[in-house]
Amino acid sequence: MVSMIFESFPVGPLACNCSLLGDEQTHEAIVIDPGDEVAGINSRLTELGLKLKQILVTHGHIDHVGGALKLKKLTGAPIFMNENDLPLLAMMETQAGWLGIATPETAPPDGNLIDGATVGTEHFPATVLHTPGHTQGSICLHFVPLKLLVAGDTLFAGSIGRTDLPGGDTDQIMDSLRSRLLALPDETNVLPGHGPVTTIGKERKSNPFLRTM
Ligand SMILES: [Zn+2]
Repeated sequence: MVSMIFESFPVGPLACNCSLLGDEQTHEAIVIDPGDEVAGINSRLTELGLKLKQILVTHGHIDHVGGALKLKKLTGAPIFMNENDLPLLAMMETQAGWLGIATPETAPPDGNLIDGATVGTEHFPATVLHTPGHTQGSICLHFVPLKLLVAGDTLFAGSIGRTDLPGGDTDQIMDSLRSRLLALPDETNVLPGHGPVTTIGKERKSNPFLRTM
Protein backbone atom coordinates (compact mmCIF):
# COMPACT_ATOMS: atom_id res chain seq x y z
CA MET A 1 0.00 0.00 0.00
CA VAL A 2 1.48 3.30 -1.11
CA SER A 3 1.22 6.09 1.44
CA MET A 4 -0.34 9.36 0.46
CA ILE A 5 0.30 12.86 1.71
CA PHE A 6 -2.84 14.99 1.54
CA GLU A 7 -3.04 18.51 2.83
CA SER A 8 -5.71 21.12 2.30
CA PHE A 9 -5.43 24.70 3.48
CA PRO A 10 -7.21 28.00 2.77
CA VAL A 11 -5.32 30.55 0.65
CA GLY A 12 -5.98 34.17 -0.26
CA PRO A 13 -8.59 36.73 0.84
CA LEU A 14 -11.52 34.44 -0.12
CA ALA A 15 -9.99 31.42 1.67
CA CYS A 16 -9.96 29.12 -1.33
CA ASN A 17 -9.22 25.54 -0.28
CA CYS A 18 -5.91 24.69 -1.95
CA SER A 19 -4.94 21.00 -1.87
CA LEU A 20 -1.63 19.24 -2.09
CA LEU A 21 -1.51 15.52 -2.78
CA GLY A 22 1.78 13.65 -2.74
CA ASP A 23 2.92 10.08 -3.28
CA GLU A 24 5.43 9.00 -0.62
CA GLN A 25 6.86 6.31 -2.87
CA THR A 26 7.44 8.23 -6.10
CA HIS A 27 7.65 11.69 -4.43
CA GLU A 28 5.38 13.07 -7.14
CA ALA A 29 2.73 15.61 -6.23
CA ILE A 30 -0.15 17.60 -7.59
CA VAL A 31 -1.54 20.89 -6.35
CA ILE A 32 -5.17 21.82 -6.88
CA ASP A 33 -6.31 25.46 -6.95
CA PRO A 34 -3.23 27.46 -5.94
CA GLY A 35 -5.19 30.70 -5.80
CA ASP A 36 -2.65 32.60 -3.71
CA GLU A 37 0.17 32.20 -1.14
CA VAL A 38 2.33 30.39 -3.68
CA ALA A 39 5.60 30.83 -1.79
CA GLY A 40 4.08 28.91 1.13
CA ILE A 41 2.76 26.16 -1.14
CA ASN A 42 6.16 25.82 -2.79
CA SER A 43 8.05 25.63 0.50
CA ARG A 44 5.61 23.00 1.77
CA LEU A 45 6.37 20.89 -1.34
CA THR A 46 10.08 21.28 -0.63
CA GLU A 47 9.66 20.40 3.06
CA LEU A 48 7.82 17.24 2.11
CA GLY A 49 10.43 16.35 -0.51
CA LEU A 50 7.85 16.34 -3.29
CA LYS A 51 8.25 17.16 -6.95
CA LEU A 52 5.25 18.92 -8.44
CA LYS A 53 3.92 17.12 -11.50
CA GLN A 54 0.66 18.93 -12.24
CA ILE A 55 -1.10 22.13 -11.26
CA LEU A 56 -4.85 21.46 -11.54
CA VAL A 57 -7.37 24.30 -11.57
CA THR A 58 -11.08 23.65 -10.94
CA HIS A 59 -12.17 26.88 -12.69
CA GLY A 60 -10.99 30.26 -13.89
CA HIS A 61 -11.90 32.44 -10.91
CA ILE A 62 -9.02 34.48 -9.52
CA ASP A 63 -9.19 32.95 -6.04
CA HIS A 64 -8.56 29.48 -7.55
CA VAL A 65 -6.19 30.23 -10.45
CA GLY A 66 -4.46 33.42 -9.28
CA GLY A 67 -1.21 31.75 -8.21
CA ALA A 68 -1.03 29.03 -10.85
CA LEU A 69 1.45 30.71 -13.19
CA LYS A 70 3.69 31.77 -10.29
CA LEU A 71 3.74 28.16 -9.05
CA LYS A 72 4.49 26.93 -12.56
CA LYS A 73 7.44 29.32 -12.80
CA LEU A 74 8.80 28.09 -9.45
CA THR A 75 8.37 24.38 -10.12
CA GLY A 76 8.18 23.88 -13.89
CA ALA A 77 4.91 21.94 -13.48
CA PRO A 78 2.30 22.33 -16.23
CA ILE A 79 -1.11 23.92 -15.58
CA PHE A 80 -4.31 22.09 -16.49
CA MET A 81 -7.71 23.77 -16.66
CA ASN A 82 -10.87 23.39 -18.72
CA GLU A 83 -10.59 25.63 -21.78
CA ASN A 84 -14.19 26.84 -21.47
CA ASP A 85 -12.85 29.16 -18.76
CA LEU A 86 -10.30 30.88 -21.02
CA PRO A 87 -12.59 33.94 -21.24
CA LEU A 88 -12.33 34.24 -17.45
CA LEU A 89 -8.52 34.20 -17.63
CA ALA A 90 -8.76 36.98 -20.19
CA MET A 91 -10.71 39.13 -17.72
CA MET A 92 -8.32 38.72 -14.77
CA GLU A 93 -8.04 42.47 -14.30
CA THR A 94 -11.82 42.73 -13.88
CA GLN A 95 -11.76 39.82 -11.45
CA ALA A 96 -8.97 41.48 -9.44
CA GLY A 97 -11.13 44.61 -9.38
CA TRP A 98 -13.99 42.64 -7.75
CA LEU A 99 -11.65 41.85 -4.84
CA GLY A 100 -9.64 45.07 -4.89
CA ILE A 101 -6.35 43.18 -5.25
CA ALA A 102 -3.45 43.32 -7.70
CA THR A 103 -3.96 41.50 -11.00
CA PRO A 104 -1.98 38.26 -11.03
CA GLU A 105 -0.12 37.30 -14.18
CA THR A 106 -1.83 34.45 -16.00
CA ALA A 107 -1.14 32.37 -19.11
CA PRO A 108 -3.22 29.88 -21.08
CA PRO A 109 -3.09 26.40 -19.52
CA ASP A 110 -0.73 23.74 -20.86
CA GLY A 111 -3.55 21.24 -21.12
CA ASN A 112 -7.33 21.08 -21.23
CA LEU A 113 -9.20 19.27 -18.44
CA ILE A 114 -11.86 17.55 -20.53
CA ASP A 115 -14.61 15.35 -19.12
CA GLY A 116 -13.41 11.80 -18.49
CA ALA A 117 -9.70 12.63 -18.57
CA THR A 118 -7.44 11.04 -15.97
CA VAL A 119 -5.05 13.30 -14.05
CA GLY A 120 -3.22 13.05 -10.73
CA THR A 121 -0.31 10.78 -9.86
CA GLU A 122 0.29 7.20 -10.92
CA HIS A 123 -0.98 5.75 -7.63
CA PHE A 124 -3.59 8.43 -6.91
CA PRO A 125 -5.43 9.15 -10.16
CA ALA A 126 -8.45 11.39 -10.52
CA THR A 127 -11.15 11.44 -13.16
CA VAL A 128 -12.24 14.84 -14.48
CA LEU A 129 -15.96 15.57 -14.26
CA HIS A 130 -16.93 18.59 -16.35
CA THR A 131 -19.63 20.25 -14.23
CA PRO A 132 -20.50 23.60 -15.86
CA GLY A 133 -22.80 26.10 -14.18
CA HIS A 134 -20.73 28.07 -11.64
CA THR A 135 -18.56 28.81 -14.69
CA GLN A 136 -18.52 27.21 -18.13
CA GLY A 137 -15.21 25.49 -17.44
CA SER A 138 -15.91 24.28 -13.88
CA ILE A 139 -14.67 20.77 -13.21
CA CYS A 140 -14.62 18.42 -10.23
CA LEU A 141 -11.84 15.91 -9.62
CA HIS A 142 -13.00 12.46 -8.56
CA PHE A 143 -10.30 10.40 -6.87
CA VAL A 144 -12.26 7.18 -7.25
CA PRO A 145 -10.06 4.82 -5.16
CA LEU A 146 -9.85 7.45 -2.40
CA LYS A 147 -13.65 8.03 -2.43
CA LEU A 148 -12.83 11.75 -2.63
CA LEU A 149 -14.33 14.50 -4.76
CA VAL A 150 -12.56 17.85 -5.01
CA ALA A 151 -15.58 19.92 -5.99
CA GLY A 152 -14.29 23.43 -6.72
CA ASP A 153 -17.15 25.92 -6.40
CA THR A 154 -19.84 23.55 -7.71
CA LEU A 155 -20.92 22.06 -4.35
CA PHE A 156 -20.40 23.34 -0.79
CA ALA A 157 -21.46 21.98 2.59
CA GLY A 158 -25.08 23.15 2.70
CA SER A 159 -24.86 25.28 -0.44
CA ILE A 160 -23.96 25.36 -4.11
CA GLY A 161 -21.85 27.63 -6.31
CA ARG A 162 -23.15 31.08 -7.25
CA THR A 163 -24.23 31.54 -10.85
CA ASP A 164 -24.52 35.34 -11.03
CA LEU A 165 -20.97 35.96 -12.27
CA PRO A 166 -19.98 35.94 -15.99
CA GLY A 167 -20.34 32.42 -17.41
CA GLY A 168 -22.69 31.33 -14.62
CA ASP A 169 -25.90 29.42 -15.44
CA THR A 170 -28.34 28.20 -12.78
CA ASP A 171 -30.09 25.53 -14.88
CA GLN A 172 -26.70 24.19 -15.88
CA ILE A 173 -25.30 23.91 -12.34
CA MET A 174 -28.50 22.17 -11.20
CA ASP A 175 -28.10 19.72 -14.08
CA SER A 176 -24.41 19.17 -13.24
CA LEU A 177 -25.29 18.54 -9.58
CA ARG A 178 -28.14 16.19 -10.44
CA SER A 179 -26.57 14.20 -13.25
CA ARG A 180 -22.93 14.08 -12.14
CA LEU A 181 -22.47 14.74 -8.41
CA LEU A 182 -25.60 13.12 -6.98
CA ALA A 183 -24.78 10.12 -9.18
CA LEU A 184 -21.77 9.44 -6.91
CA PRO A 185 -22.01 7.07 -3.91
CA ASP A 186 -23.17 8.56 -0.59
CA GLU A 187 -19.86 7.74 1.09
CA THR A 188 -17.91 10.00 -1.30
CA ASN A 189 -16.05 12.64 0.72
CA VAL A 190 -16.38 16.11 -0.74
CA LEU A 191 -13.75 18.82 -0.41
CA PRO A 192 -15.41 22.03 -1.64
CA GLY A 193 -13.59 25.08 -3.00
CA HIS A 194 -14.39 26.97 0.21
CA GLY A 195 -15.43 25.98 3.72
CA PRO A 196 -15.69 22.62 5.47
CA VAL A 197 -15.64 19.11 4.01
CA THR A 198 -18.83 17.10 3.61
CA THR A 199 -20.07 13.94 1.88
CA ILE A 200 -22.37 13.31 -1.06
CA GLY A 201 -24.76 11.46 1.29
CA LYS A 202 -24.96 14.38 3.72
CA GLU A 203 -25.61 16.89 0.94
CA ARG A 204 -28.17 14.61 -0.73
CA LYS A 205 -30.07 14.52 2.56
CA SER A 206 -29.73 18.05 3.91
CA ASN A 207 -28.52 20.54 1.25
CA PRO A 208 -31.53 22.86 0.72
CA PHE A 209 -30.53 23.45 -2.91
CA LEU A 210 -30.69 19.72 -3.65
CA ARG A 211 -33.99 19.03 -1.88
CA THR A 212 -36.10 19.08 -5.03
CA MET A 213 -33.93 16.56 -6.85
ZN1 LIG B 1 -15.51 30.42 -8.19
